[in-house]
Amino acid sequence: MSPLRVAIVGFGKIARDQHVPAIAATEGVELVAVASRNASLPGVPHAATLDELLRDGPEIDAVALCTPPQVRHAQAAMALAASKHVMLEKPPGATVAEINPLVTAARAAQRTLFATWHSRFAPAVEPARQLLAGRQVTSVKITWKEDVRVWHPGQAWIFEPGGLGVFDPGINALSILTRILPQPLFVTSADLAFPANRDAPIAANLALSDVQGLQISAEFDFLQTGPQSWDIDLDTDGGPVTLSMGGARLRAGGIELVDAAEAEYAGLYRRFSELCATGEADVDLAPLQLVADAFLLGRRRMVEPFEDEP
Ligand code: NAP
Repeated sequence: MSPLRVAIVGFGKIARDQHVPAIAATEGVELVAVASRNASLPGVPHAATLDELLRDGPEIDAVALCTPPQVRHAQAAMALAASKHVMLEKPPGATVAEINPLVTAARAAQRTLFATWHSRFAPAVEPARQLLAGRQVTSVKITWKEDVRVWHPGQAWIFEPGGLGVFDPGINALSILTRILPQPLFVTSADLAFPANRDAPIAANLALSDVQGLQISAEFDFLQTGPQSWDIDLDTDGGPVTLSMGGARLRAGGIELVDAAEAEYAGLYRRFSELCATGEADVDLAPLQLVADAFLLGRRRMVEPFEDEP
């Protein structure tokens, strides 16, 4: 079978760090172009914009949209109109309602729309889902705290409307939780801290639940210096279960069940390749809906201005 010819759109941090090596490591997938206004990759055909790429670039089968969420809908619609398969970085868009028209467009074009949640491909997530399927979960605590200056240097879009602020990483925790728990979840309260000079939160505390009244708390913080935390602690009728390191490690009853190197993006491209072969869509909006609901329900506090340099 001929390889899936992919163009990366928006050649920033995640494109360089993860998409390029993952494509190189995935059989049947080939990087044939980059569309980015200010960046390129030596040896790979380049266009400044997706429009220019579709008009003048090499033949492609698919695009991987690695731009910020605020511009992704228009790019996805353009790519689907040109009959290309589309992989969306997380979050799939800046609003919930903009995604379903893309699903419809993908169906009409008989192309794939893959709304990725890379954290769901972390090595301990599927083992955690299977472990929890046989247990009663009695409480959950998410602690997702990282230093925005280390992980998102100069990414002004993250604090602009639609950039999600601290939910940009926080939605990864929600993508894992909505995968490993069997019941749909909903937000019951939210406290959002907005820097006085920004339009997206820098910290958030959420409470969530499900139809059985499960108590879930989530703490998200973008100003964590020192050790970083990407942990989900669950109490269950079979003892405590901890998913840590963003889903790379799983401990249950004091025993390390999984401690594996992450290979999330290789998993994403394998899945994308499978989806493209059948034209099937994979779109789960549950994590984005929870974040949107946190904005709807959230009590807002203004906190001190945030500057890139402390
Ligand atoms: P980034 O470093 O800012 O890269 C995004 C690139 O998109 C920019 O370099 C820019 O390239 C292009 N871009 C920015 N604004 C644009 C606009 N208005 N119109 C068109 N293109 C624009 O951001 P990133 O960290 O790679 O994140 C991109 C997406 O990946 C986000 O949704 C993020 O949540 C997700 N993600 C990031 C990480 C991470 O660790 N960084 C991890 C997983 C997922 P040009 O200026 O060259 O056009």
